[in-house]
Amino acid sequence: MENKFSIKQFNQRFPDDAACLEEIKQLRFGDTIVCPHCGKENKFYRVTGRSAYACSFCGHHIYPLKGSIFDHSSTELRLWFYAIYLMAQTRAGISAKQLERELGVTYKTAWRMFNHIRQLMSGDGNILTGEVEVDEAYFHPDTTKRTTAKAHNSQIVFGMVERNGRAVAKHVKSSGVRVLSKEIRKGITSDATIYSDTHGSYRHLTRAGYVHFTINHSIQEYVSDDRHTQNVENLWSNIKRGITGVYRHVDPKYLQAYVDEYAFRYSNRKVQPKYMFDLILSNIATHQ
Ligand SMILES: [Zn+2]
Repeated sequence: MENKFSIKQFNQRFPDDAACLEEIKQLRFGDTIVCPHCGKENKFYRVTGRSAYACSFCGHHIYPLKGSIFDHSSTELRLWFYAIYLMAQTRAGISAKQLERELGVTYKTAWRMFNHIRQLMSGDGNILTGEVEVDEAYFHPDTTKRTTAKAHNSQIVFGMVERNGRAVAKHVKSSGVRVLSKEIRKGITSDATIYSDTHGSYRHLTRAGYVHFTINHSIQEYVSDDRHTQNVENLWSNIKRGITGVYRHVDPKYLQAYVDEYAFRYSNRKVQPKYMFDLILSNIATHQ
């Protein structure tokens, strides 16, 4: 079976901006819409020359792009879709520079599109459950200056990964107990089992009601059955490989967006490549 969403299929599905707008309307409103003005359920029809649809009873307009990443953009919808297609096609991600080349837009435009599309890949609202591994990782803002980077320049990312499941990564201000506890309370259900190293910030987890197992890296404990944090370590290696291989370096301002993208790719690692485009695009229904 064809495991790819080919460029030919893409072109057939989205021959023009109208087809893209229709897709967005479907995703955000569904097939039939209850008119917010007259209350009648009907199929809205496309208003010629505008990115709007009108109620067939009272003429009330709805705007599928409103509040979405495509709102107020002078870039054609089809080019946006193609950018999502390119970002969905690779496992490791592509850079804004590559988008610039592929789309034939300015770097500024490519960079803006790139960041907007990554918003569709953020895992906001994911609450993890079951067996969850947690860990912190340190990133230097500019890996090209790795040798001179001082410790205080390091940026901290806190990772939470469900075994066999999803991942959430947060750029945090510190790895102190208050910051990490807050992320854990927000991100992991209270009936979960948590695996971590012996970092002091995790010491209170049992008191907070979690079943908590620790792994002591310093005494070379052999990985006995379940006591490991292999999954969250895999997430770190994906992120670090991505940053050095694709992006070279990361401005701290954008670190959250980078780790969101990698957490998203990790969470959806079992999704077949041909479904990735639709998976990313479908998030416009929930991400404003
Ligand atoms: Zn109406």
